[in-house]
Amino acid sequence: MDTVYLDNNATSRVDPAVLEEMLPYFSELYGNPSSMHTFGGQVGAKLREARERVAAVLGCDASEIVFTSCGTEGDSTAIRSALEAQPDKRHLVTTKVEHPAVLNLANHLVKKGYHLTLLGVDSQGRLDLDELRGSLRDDTALVSVMYANNETGTVFPVQEIAEIVKSRGIALHTDAVQAVGKIPLDMGTLPVDYLVLSGHKVHAPKGVGALYVRKGTPFRPFLIGGHQERGRRGGTESVPSIIGLGKACELAAAYLEDENTRVKALRDRLQAGLLAGVPESRLNGDPERRLPNTVNISFKFVEGEAILLLMDQLGICASSGSACTSGSLEPSHVLRAMGVPFTFAHGSVRFSLSRFNTEAEVDYVVAELPRVIARLRAISPFSEERQGLGLG
Ligand SMILES: *Cc1c(COP(=O)(O)O)cnc(C)c1O
Repeated sequence: MDTVYLDNNATSRVDPAVLEEMLPYFSELYGNPSSMHTFGGQVGAKLREARERVAAVLGCDASEIVFTSCGTEGDSTAIRSALEAQPDKRHLVTTKVEHPAVLNLANHLVKKGYHLTLLGVDSQGRLDLDELRGSLRDDTALVSVMYANNETGTVFPVQEIAEIVKSRGIALHTDAVQAVGKIPLDMGTLPVDYLVLSGHKVHAPKGVGALYVRKGTPFRPFLIGGHQERGRRGGTESVPSIIGLGKACELAAAYLEDENTRVKALRDRLQAGLLAGVPESRLNGDPERRLPNTVNISFKFVEGEAILLLMDQLGICASSGSACTSGSLEPSHVLRAMGVPFTFAHGSVRFSLSRFNTEAEVDYVVAELPRVIARLRAISPFSEERQGLGLG
């Protein structure tokens, strides 16, 4: 078996159709889309098509799309725009389980004098909407809530959240990097002000993304320079990548159904196989309101990193929820916020599928992983406790 890639929430394969659409813009069609001449103009026309394709997947107007260099830039630009536009409001609300692109910026802003409320989650990673209601203040400038969690796949009820936040007239940002292509999005009915997506999570290249800014919403460019993006982001456009993002968004809409049927069935097969095949394993995240491609499982008494290393030898790619590699033995901030017990949190593995996965790959993992876990448990420092539980 070649590489079995189950790490699509970290990054995804560029779809061959996306690459094909990009290639001419690296070679023959190298004009600057801002040029007056026809040669550049044809690139400008293709850029407009890409903008329309991204707008179509969000159900918004093309003029509401700003291309960025990545999801992180989109998150930063949205949050900083909302704060800069309302200098008298110094309070920000977000959650404990956001991606570092939001959480680390929020913590940075605290050092700059902003007040921060971090909403907690329950054991399944769900928000308490009453806690959200109670957190909103007269000086709240922005609420930032991710659409779907990258580690557990738990989906937040952004529609309900938006109704609560907008009824107080507060700006709302959502990091939808993991939602695009997996959940239908329609900015016509979802009253958020800023929404962020990233190319490399949706089978487009790394280093490109888009920020949706609702018409009339305050905006402050992050990169001040030329008139590109209607003055909302200076810098010559990353043309091939943007064209790739446009194509990827078109495909995301076309494959949405497949993602929620075939890919979801593969994910469910993997989840059922692993939970049945490995004693003392448990699911992390909301069993129902969850991305169709994601499953995060904790295997008690083993280190996620060790599981990843042994899986790597079998050609299986996944992610762990702990961060031992960075020198700390802290489990992920997401699992900690959920209160996952220590002996489970350390042994967590996230599997994230895509339309390129097959049933044979899932069956291979279901067959191999129980042996991997058994091997690791045999040498586990928790072995006494393990035997006490009758797992010896
Ligand atoms: C990957 C990811 C990001 C960051 O996107 P980049 O394009 O890598 O900067 C932000 N938020 C979530 C939820 C992600 O999964």
